[in-house]
Amino acid sequence: MELTELTAHEVHELLTGGQVSCREVTEAVLARAEQVEPLAHSYIRLTPEIALAQADEIDQRLARGESLPPLGGIPLALKDIMCTKGLITTCGSKILEDFIPPYDATIVTRCYEQGMVLVGKTNMDEFAMGSSTENSAFGPTHNPWDIERVPGGSSGGSASATAANEAIMALGSDTGGSIRQPAALCGVVGMKPTYGRVSRQGLVAFASSLDQIGPITKDVTDCAHLLNVICGHDPLDSTSVDIPVPDFAQALGKEIKGLKIGLPKEFFEYEGKEVGEEVQAPIRAALKIFESLGAEIEETSLPSLSYCVATYYLIAPAEASSNLARYDGVQYGFRAPGEDIVDMYRKTRDQGFGAEVKRRIMLGTYALSAGYYDAYYQKAQQVRTLMVQDFQRAFEKYDVLMGPTSPTVAFRLGERTADPLAMYLSDVCTIPMNLAGLPAISVPCGFSDGLPVGLQIVGRTLDEETLLRAAHAFEQSTRFHSRRNLPASKDAKALVERRGE
Ligand code: GLN
Repeated sequence: MELTELTAHEVHELLTGGQVSCREVTEAVLARAEQVEPLAHSYIRLTPEIALAQADEIDQRLARGESLPPLGGIPLALKDIMCTKGLITTCGSKILEDFIPPYDATIVTRCYEQGMVLVGKTNMDEFAMGSSTENSAFGPTHNPWDIERVPGGSSGGSASATAANEAIMALGSDTGGSIRQPAALCGVVGMKPTYGRVSRQGLVAFASSLDQIGPITKDVTDCAHLLNVICGHDPLDSTSVDIPVPDFAQALGKEIKGLKIGLPKEFFEYEGKEVGEEVQAPIRAALKIFESLGAEIEETSLPSLSYCVATYYLIAPAEASSNLARYDGVQYGFRAPGEDIVDMYRKTRDQGFGAEVKRRIMLGTYALSAGYYDAYYQKAQQVRTLMVQDFQRAFEKYDVLMGPTSPTVAFRLGERTADPLAMYLSDVCTIPMNLAGLPAISVPCGFSDGLPVGLQIVGRTLDEETLLRAAHAFEQSTRFHSRRNLPASKDAKALVERRGE
């Protein structure tokens, strides 16, 4: 087995046992990225100098006989939406293509304090707006399972890097599904923690009441370890919750007998119909496994969830229109010359933002405008409250809710780009949890025509532990997570021919 194929907990064993050095692991990951990048394009920027310097430091610590925390020396891919001091952070946008942050995001500092090694900054939809990573100003990412298909989005680069072994683990951000949906489409584990669990300081803001950072990993154990590093109160983020964080690794390996699972029928609806058989069949098989492990499953309904896409596409653009006002050519990044200051603002924003970002700014500005605020933004907030209440009622009865993470498997590149509404519907299964602030995890649960399918498990506020316990029990009895399909050189040849290079 190659070093790059290992999980973080497996690499940890080798590092602490002295069987391999951190430099060897890091070099293997960098070499793998070098080989796969022409196909996958998971990264906007690789950071070999930083990675190797950090790796050498870890090796010195090991040589001095120091003990290593669980993720010390582990190569990490970071979505390019998290600020890194002195290192360009683009957020997938031309408007930030030269932006060098003066500070590290809090979670970046925490990862460095743990001794993690930064492999690079991953590709993403511009300002995290999208479900396919095709909205990146730097070109799309390809799905390692089929390079003609999308990896999902907006954290498509982080999911693809993890799935293609170009990193041992990754961090993404999730505003409406951007960790879970790409994790599902790439066959890896992805979790959006409870809103407030993880600091957003230094995370470029898209929709502040929905955004949350979370892990994308090869298995549930790694997910628990990465949560241990990133969760916890941050005085620099007033929305981060100030309560003790459990040791998430303690949740692993416990049985799930008697676990009460609710299946909301709204999780299985897509475009007014049932989610397709390609996704339903593996989900049904997964639920059988939960039953065999002693869980009790019941169908239920959370009626307000049918309005989730409409609600989200008022609230998220409204917040985005306000958050993105700061990109004016004065304070950050790109500036287009203009005849006067207003002309400069206009040209900067026109040339700096891509089409989807402009669409969101217009939608959001409209929803917040004086005459329409009550009809759109306020109404959406009221529906959001109904969703929170529907979830509260459901969690009086059930420990977790389950359903698909994505209504379809990975779609073809270009298939939904001309139809924004079709793209927006890609997140129908994940959006409700952002609106309600709840934790949710996606775990690989099977395949359809060789493409991965993800099962989503949703939990009560701040109850990530039950999600991990359920996901881990499932993973132990299936092992779907350990299957990989890596792009081979014949794919590279086909891709190059198609591009006419
Ligand atoms: N696809 C959704 C959107 O475009 C969610 C994105 C996200 O979670 N960042 O807004």
